[in-house]
Amino acid sequence: MAFRKFTIYDFKRFAMLVLNFMFGNGKCCVCGNSTFNGKICISCSKKLYDEAENSHCEKCRICGKSLISEEEICMSCREERILKNSDKVVPVFPYRLWAKTLLFEWKMQNQRNLSLLFAEICNSVIKKRISENIFIVPVPPRPGKIRSRGWDQIEELSEILKVKFGYKVLKLLERTEKNQQKKLDRKKRLSSKGKIYTESKLLKRLSSENSLPEQVLLIDDVLTTGVTVESCCEILKNAGISKVDVLSLFVVD
Ligand SMILES: [Zn+2]
Ligand SMILES: [Zn+2]
Repeated sequence: MAFRKFTIYDFKRFAMLVLNFMFGNGKCCVCGNSTFNGKICISCSKKLYDEAENSHCEKCRICGKSLISEEEICMSCREERILKNSDKVVPVFPYRLWAKTLLFEWKMQNQRNLSLLFAEICNSVIKKRISENIFIVPVPPRPGKIRSRGWDQIEELSEILKVKFGYKVLKLLERTEKNQQKKLDRKKRLSSKGKIYTESKLLKRLSSENSLPEQVLLIDDVLTTGVTVESCCEILKNAGISKVDVLSLFVVD
């Protein structure tokens, strides 16, 4: 048996491995320093953990936005409250410049290796601020998104929380497709008119069996106006779930 010749390509590959090991194989998307594992360096991921630890402080108890001089409830929730069906919103990260970069890398640049880090941080926030026995309900992706981009951030996050951290994930919501709405007959169309989110088959089944959980945790990535979260919470509350908390990776002030 002849040995395969050691080519220049093998040498290059070997040299790359050594160089990667010595100097890192990429740049941290937050600070630009070299990193060995993926897109974020150790000191930046530590910073992320520390910030997540305190991101709930001085936040509105209803919407999770920063309080300026108010106590407990922010001005906009006092004046025109959008979130009527959620019990509380827990923000995971402060919405600052470097955190925004991370969100952009994750969502737009398809940096899936950030998912595990986000899931780990979510897990520690859920354990501390909510409950480790909570049922997780993901905000469903736009129809066709998985087909076109190959993955959905919230779905992946929930999947890691389920597989790695043992949470129970219930896909209780569905997002209606525009074309789908066109196909519905008039009566149905009127009843679902303007609704982006609807009950999933699972929600219908659990509710008919009377086996819906008392309390769930809705998970989303960014809360801006709160309209998305409110419409999801409304469906869950109408179905008979008595407590709906929300975990949002970011809350835009
Ligand atoms: Zn860094
Ligand atoms: Zn508020």
